[in-house]
Amino acid sequence: MSVAVIGAGPAGLMAAETLAAGGAHVTVYDAMPSAGRKFLMAGRGGLNLTHSEPLADFLKRYREAMPRLKAAVEAFPPDSLRAWSEALGQPTFVGTSGRVFPKAFKASPLLRAWLRRLDAAGVAFAFRHRWIGWDAHGGLLFETPDGPRAVNADAAVLALGGASWPRLGSDGAWSEILGAKGIAVAPMKPANSGFTVAWSNMFRDRFEGQPLKGVALTIGPRTVRGEAIVTRTGIEGGAIYALSAELREAVLAKGTAMFSVALRPDTAHDELIARLSAPKGKQSFSNFLRKAAQLSPVGIGLLQEAAAVSGRSLPALPPAELAGLTNAVPIEISGVAPIARAISSAGGIRFDELDAHFMLRRLPGVFAAGEMLDWEAPTGGYLLQASFATGAAAGKGALRWLNL
Ligand SMILES: Cc1cc2nc3c(=O)[nH]c(=O)nc-3n(C[C@H](O)[C@H](O)[C@H](O)COP(=O)(O)OP(=O)(O)OC[C@H]3O[C@@H](n4cnc5c(N)ncnc54)[C@H](O)[C@@H]3O)c2cc1C
Repeated sequence: MSVAVIGAGPAGLMAAETLAAGGAHVTVYDAMPSAGRKFLMAGRGGLNLTHSEPLADFLKRYREAMPRLKAAVEAFPPDSLRAWSEALGQPTFVGTSGRVFPKAFKASPLLRAWLRRLDAAGVAFAFRHRWIGWDAHGGLLFETPDGPRAVNADAAVLALGGASWPRLGSDGAWSEILGAKGIAVAPMKPANSGFTVAWSNMFRDRFEGQPLKGVALTIGPRTVRGEAIVTRTGIEGGAIYALSAELREAVLAKGTAMFSVALRPDTAHDELIARLSAPKGKQSFSNFLRKAAQLSPVGIGLLQEAAAVSGRSLPALPPAELAGLTNAVPIEISGVAPIARAISSAGGIRFDELDAHFMLRRLPGVFAAGEMLDWEAPTGGYLLQASFATGAAAGKGALRWLNL
């Protein structure tokens, strides 16, 4: 039985591995000249493969999609992913905040070993094959450097990725192909992305690229601790990514959205007031803030921006007000950074279109996996874990459908 896997990212390669182990003849097709380009890009940040928190907490990161992903992640959980990586010669370790990385802290040795093992298992690869849909006879149609090519397979697994970083291969163009078949696809939106903020010229020129460390960001009922980085056009970084779903939906609904930054989240309000009530002497106000409240220059800059917006001068604020502002600096975002620069994308094939084995109900024999499905998750290893797990589940689904 032959199976075409389209997309040589983590989801497609995991589906291919599962299918080959089950006895299928597998060919992996990809539009790019080589496999796993986004996976290799993820490796630049050390390759955060998964997370070590308890599985029940882990699953909650997928929010509304959790019930749809639960069985797949339970069948291929973080421990199995770590064991899989180790078996490929890449043992893992648990880093700060529980994130799991390969000890080599990059993706290339893992991908090389994986491709060697797939090759040994008989998996064939066809690169520079861009899938563009089906021909009149139901064959899978590809654009190749040698012209169009139709491929007949007993089953297909689509693992075409999301719509972020299109230059790495995943451009979301598949949503139109599937949409034309009547398959519901939720609009692709940036996830784990930055946001635009109208900084003053002075703030932007002085603080572009500077991190706000150990802060707490709040929008509505959600607060996240971590780091945010000031960019020329706005703000990004781990804590921003963690709130990006809320921030994105708020800004898409109203055009702008507010969140607040606690610069000293571990210092109680009264203590902050006491510190800010200390005599200032002859030092500049910035120096006073730096010493009395241990604020960084970028944190002080943020306070000055906020005071200026309300037409006030920072030194004129009474200590209680200044303390309140320090732990609730309002920031207005005016837009979402482009999807091309987002780490991942939300949206994709709606889960109602899939059966419990990741087969498209309207296209029997065609399965789908990875980031092209309608789920989103924060950074922390949740993106790769769900891509691997759904790839394995779709592979198993195809084996079952083929009675292998
Ligand atoms: C900068 C960056 C850092 C990241 N870091 C992490 C991290 O540390 N941890 C983490 O969990 N996640 C991380 N991610 C996210 C993670 O890389 C993705 O979620 C994951 O790669 C998705 O896997 P996938 O197999 O579903 O899709 P992809 O990896 O996007 O693979 C899809 C494949 O399909 C191919 N394709 C697309 N369309 C077609 C077509 N029409 N025809 C043929 N082939 C096609 C593409 O060329 C691509 O090879 C990061 C992403 C980025 C951009």
